[in-house]
Amino acid sequence: MRAELLKNPVFAMAAEQFDQVADFLELDDDIRERCKWPKRLITVTVPVRHDDGSTRVYFGHRVQHHLSRGPVKGGLRYHPDVDLGEVAALAMWMNWKCALMDLPFGGGKGGINCDPRTLSVGEKERITRRFTMEMIPFIGEEIDVMAPDMGTDEQTMAWFLDTYSTHAGKMVPGIITGKPINLQGSEGRIRATGHGVAFLASRALNKLAVPVRDASAVVQGFGNVGLHTALTLSSYGVEVRGISDVTGAVWNDKGIDVQALSRHADTTGGVVGFDGADAIDPEEMLCQPCDILAPAACGMVITCDNASKLRCKVLAEGANGPTTPEADAILAERGDIFIIPDILANAGGVTVSYFEWVQNLQRYRWTEREVLTRLETMLEAAFTRVLQFAERHGLGQRVAAQALAIQTVAEVKSQRGMFP
Ligand code: NAD
Repeated sequence: MRAELLKNPVFAMAAEQFDQVADFLELDDDIRERCKWPKRLITVTVPVRHDDGSTRVYFGHRVQHHLSRGPVKGGLRYHPDVDLGEVAALAMWMNWKCALMDLPFGGGKGGINCDPRTLSVGEKERITRRFTMEMIPFIGEEIDVMAPDMGTDEQTMAWFLDTYSTHAGKMVPGIITGKPINLQGSEGRIRATGHGVAFLASRALNKLAVPVRDASAVVQGFGNVGLHTALTLSSYGVEVRGISDVTGAVWNDKGIDVQALSRHADTTGGVVGFDGADAIDPEEMLCQPCDILAPAACGMVITCDNASKLRCKVLAEGANGPTTPEADAILAERGDIFIIPDILANAGGVTVSYFEWVQNLQRYRWTEREVLTRLETMLEAAFTRVLQFAERHGLGQRVAAQALAIQTVAEVKSQRGMFP
């Protein structure tokens, strides 16, 4: 199984990052092994009747990286490229993210290898309900709590909640987060990840003594994370000059009207053809001069091909794993880009998911202002911890963030003993 996992390039990247940090921390071999490998790798088949009467069998995965610090927390992704190795890598990153933010969770991730763009609403509902049934022996509000990720949304979470609650014979809101508000979802959850990316990018500009108002930004991806990153940056007075999605990229030197672009993308299915900006090559867009570059789409987009060409001051990693280790080495060598690594930059999502879970367990509701204020306080604290650790040990911010997180998990494993 070790060799199988390492054959996956995303898992190999997560494992390489882990080994680098474990070497720095001088972790003993036994703790190192227990921190590195996932506790549970679960794969299920999900047979589903399609609208045309045919039956297709999908593969669904859930990886629970470790259960030492509380329930497992992490998203559920619907994408044709999903496989066990990728899910295991994402679970490992979730692990470090929860520990870095000091949330009482271990990391998890799930995914189904389907293409949501080609499925009808009914087919997506049947896939979700059947996957939930298959997961019932392995999940619970104190065991494993899922959330939205690429290709899933509030409606997916509502089907999941309904299937689980019907099976339990009672409403169990804490079984999933990212739910619609009227099903006990949290105020602020939808915008939390992008809001956090933008908030930390603005804090990085403060550190570099670059004024936030009238700074410039480029955002790759215009889904949940990209849209809300762009909206919050605009609300700070930042000019978001370039935005891309899977259909292409658009550019406006004076800043894009993000709300208008969002309406355009909703009606046409993508950013291309927006009359408030010009078309630009998506790869070229990443290398335009700007204060903030926020990759907020998919993994492995900052590579050895473009790392030396980036002309941003701050790289705020909204997506998970957007920078390959080779690209990271180039950026470290350059030393002129302030990196906010993914496990910190996009931690707003899991932090507000934690708030949602707490509200669900308490049967209580916080206002959006309360949620965002608590979120900013926790992000600020983690940002400060990372910068101080990096400075004290002469490390880059990615290694510093992972070292803080891995150290926390290693301590808990050592305190608790062999089982968790
Ligand atoms: P989403 O499905 O809502 O949106 C993805 C966006 O990326 C879409 O606009 C799509 O068109 C675009 N895209 C896909 N391939 C692209 C490409 N090659 N170039 C440019 N754009 C491309 O997904 P999301 O929830 O916004 O997640 C985006 C990333 O952020 C993922 O890596 C995810 O794991 C990570 N993330 C999401 C959350 C969350 O709360 N949603 C939290 C933490 C991390």
